Amino acid sequence: MTKKENKLQKTYKFRLYPNKSQGFKLLETLELCRQTYNILLSELNNQKVIDKSIIQGTIPDIKICEPKFKRLYSKTMQYESYRLFSNLHTLVQLKKKGKKVGSLRFKSKKSFKSITYNQSGFNLIKTGKRYQTLHLSKIGEIPVRAYRDIEGKIKQIAIKITNSGKWFANITAESGKQNKKLVNSKQVGIDLGLTNYVYDSDNNHFDNPKYLNNSLNKLKKLQRKLSRKQKGSNNRNKQRLKVTKLHETIENQRNDFLHKLSRYYINNYNLIAVENLQIQNMIKNRFLSRSISDSSWAKFIKMLEYKAESAGIQVIKVNPRGTTQKCSNCNTIVKKSLKDREHICPCGLHIHRDYNSALKVLKDATVGSTGSNVWGNVSAETSMNQKFQGINT
Ligand SMILES: [Zn+2]
Repeated sequence: MTKKENKLQKTYKFRLYPNKSQGFKLLETLELCRQTYNILLSELNNQKVIDKSIIQGTIPDIKICEPKFKRLYSKTMQYESYRLFSNLHTLVQLKKKGKKVGSLRFKSKKSFKSITYNQSGFNLIKTGKRYQTLHLSKIGEIPVRAYRDIEGKIKQIAIKITNSGKWFANITAESGKQNKKLVNSKQVGIDLGLTNYVYDSDNNHFDNPKYLNNSLNKLKKLQRKLSRKQKGSNNRNKQRLKVTKLHETIENQRNDFLHKLSRYYINNYNLIAVENLQIQNMIKNRFLSRSISDSSWAKFIKMLEYKAESAGIQVIKVNPRGTTQKCSNCNTIVKKSLKDREHICPCGLHIHRDYNSALKVLKDATVGSTGSNVWGNVSAETSMNQKFQGINT
């Protein structure tokens, strides 16, 4: 989320219902954008010294050489140059951080999923109470299902296609609203776990909703079925589409749960403390990967952060090292394996282990630098391994 002059950006996701000819146009536009990106990338690869204006200057030439590109809205086509340089920038940043990175890759049909309208070429039309139609230049008036009003001015619309062929509009709007000031500070620490999705310092806990767990079980069955179908057969393709659709359902159910959960914390607290989990590092550990990526903590923290930004609430991320083993009352190390569900400290504190962790997270966040620097530079991976030690036994 970028912040300019105190302006707030919000993104709204609405489903689109293009008719047959609009669907065809959208697919063609997507393909032409992809080709533009790849042509610009090959121009970039030919340059000895990178010159952005020369790359941008090739766009009119592309249109002259191949008139089919005239069917693209000009700014949508220009956006591909922005996309290319934005990807290049990310790559350079990663390199600076010492990460091993290759060069930019050409986009395949599989990896290219969005068309972007920046600043112009779109109009969201309201009939009665709701937005009914999205006008896109060079494509037409597409029916849209909007579930909420948009605050502020629309800056950009990204049209995306899912793997099962559904279209969505991601609408980014900017409003001049200022952050609200903190008055009474109500604080909470949150522990992220597997048994309880979250456990907080007010002794509340939330688990994955049942419908989500049901869908996950269904997915396991479908995948087993899929593996038994003959490769290349029609039945296998049909089964694969079923799996893809269920994946999307699960994604939606999970997002719904995470939205409600993050909203609960935003509505009830002014300061929210969470562990600074480095999910990327954790996923490398293949034994833990499924359960951890499934529980999607990274997404939850992201939602908390962007909702907090527009609500003027503080989110503090603390070093996860020690939040499970140390006593929230007296800082004594109380060793526990995953099987130990209670925290029993010589100081007399006897509470649920995750409750202790949540209290410790809050304490670390509010005590300040002394709290978070004590453990130094230990990677989150190590501490998460400690946290879930014995998970496979
Ligand atoms: Zn203690």
